[in-house]
Amino acid sequence: METRIIKLEQEESDEDLLQEAGSVIRCGGLVAFPTETVYGLGGDALNKNSARKIYEAKGRPSDNPLIVHICRFKDIYEITERVPKEAVKIADAFWPGPLTMILPKSDRVPYETTGGLGTVAVRMPSHPVAQKLIAYGGGYVAAPSANASGRPSPTVARHVIEDMRDKIDVIVDGGEVGIGLESTIIDLTVSPPQILRPGYITRKMLSGILGSVEEDITILKADSGQAPKAPGMKYRHYAPKGELTVVQGDAKEVTAYINAHAKDAMAAGNRVGVIATEELSGEYCADVVKCVGRRDDEDMIARHLYTVLREFDEEGVTMIYSESFDAKDFGQAIMNRLLKAAGHKVIKLD
Ligand code: AMP
Ligand code: MG
Repeated sequence: METRIIKLEQEESDEDLLQEAGSVIRCGGLVAFPTETVYGLGGDALNKNSARKIYEAKGRPSDNPLIVHICRFKDIYEITERVPKEAVKIADAFWPGPLTMILPKSDRVPYETTGGLGTVAVRMPSHPVAQKLIAYGGGYVAAPSANASGRPSPTVARHVIEDMRDKIDVIVDGGEVGIGLESTIIDLTVSPPQILRPGYITRKMLSGILGSVEEDITILKADSGQAPKAPGMKYRHYAPKGELTVVQGDAKEVTAYINAHAKDAMAAGNRVGVIATEELSGEYCADVVKCVGRRDDEDMIARHLYTVLREFDEEGVTMIYSESFDAKDFGQAIMNRLLKAAGHKVIKLD
């Protein structure tokens, strides 16, 4: 299949292009498009064949459910069995935006979309391109991240082209995404509600509205002995080709440790990369040092993380060391993705 790439120009003609892309979704095809979190791979959420095609294009295990994207709050009633008052409250506060809710599904949603579960994940994205495409695509668009399974999520159209060219019908290029990490997932079928995946909408923000909010303990721990509640979180997502180690401790110790190990690894024939903050990036001796942003600028670090992991792959890096980040608030989402990319390989120096 030849993939059509549609580049949006912020002009009136974009509207026609999005209408065409929407009709591809309505007719059972797949369209990748930007959202404010990462690029999504969209298909009709109410069509089981579209769901099957999404799994196939991504090489994604079919027990890993898809998030259904809507563009009007009222559409949530169509795809869920019950909408608790908590859902209305957090939708008021954070929708459209990077927050996904788990709710009991209605009969309209096929089990192919929910990976066999009786619950459905729902999100209303804020990206204007995503909103239009969902509307033109029939209102219910299943859209996991538009990467091949196991690769970092795409934050620019180039990443999608790398992974999905010739596997899907259309890629809509709407420029770089704003956030760069996937949405927060909150399960509202349990009491108190539980965060299954951390993201830009933090526990603090959610508990400000809902009161008590819990967290799946597998979010930052490798050795909890439990399976994550979001089926997709058990897979080693976001894996770079090189072996990644996260080094935690004070700045001096971290740079000394990374430099000593980078030296040995390079002597052993590795191509070594370092994920560094701006403050320390000048301190490292390695083949490739990538700066993700200032230590206190979590938005910047999040936006760059997946791009940097992909660049290491492209540049043939076989061993990667990363600084560690503060795991509070949005930083928790950064650390969750970084630790998963590292297969939880962490060196603690403090
Ligand atoms: P992605 O679309 O790539 O951001 O991945 C979607 C994530 O949402 C995966 O980790 C899924 O396991 C999770 N998810 C989707 N639907 C459900 C559900 N009904 N219950 C729990 N987790 C879900
Ligand atoms: Mg994903």
